[in-house]
Amino acid sequence: MSKIGDQKKKIIHFFCRPCAEYHLKTHPHYRAMKRRAALRRKAKATAAKETVQQ
Ligand SMILES: [Zn+2]
Repeated sequence: MSKIGDQKKKIIHFFCRPCAEYHLKTHPHYRAMKRRAALRRKAKATAAKETVQQ
């Protein structure tokens, strides 16, 4: 019985929207997705900052 070990397994798959299916994180779309998410986060943070300053 090693249920804890199974839960600790790293998630190596992600849901790829362009392909509409799960892929390994080595899939090229994963990098593109991460980059887009980072840009969106950054833009949101900048917008929040500007709102506070005004
Ligand atoms: Zn894909």
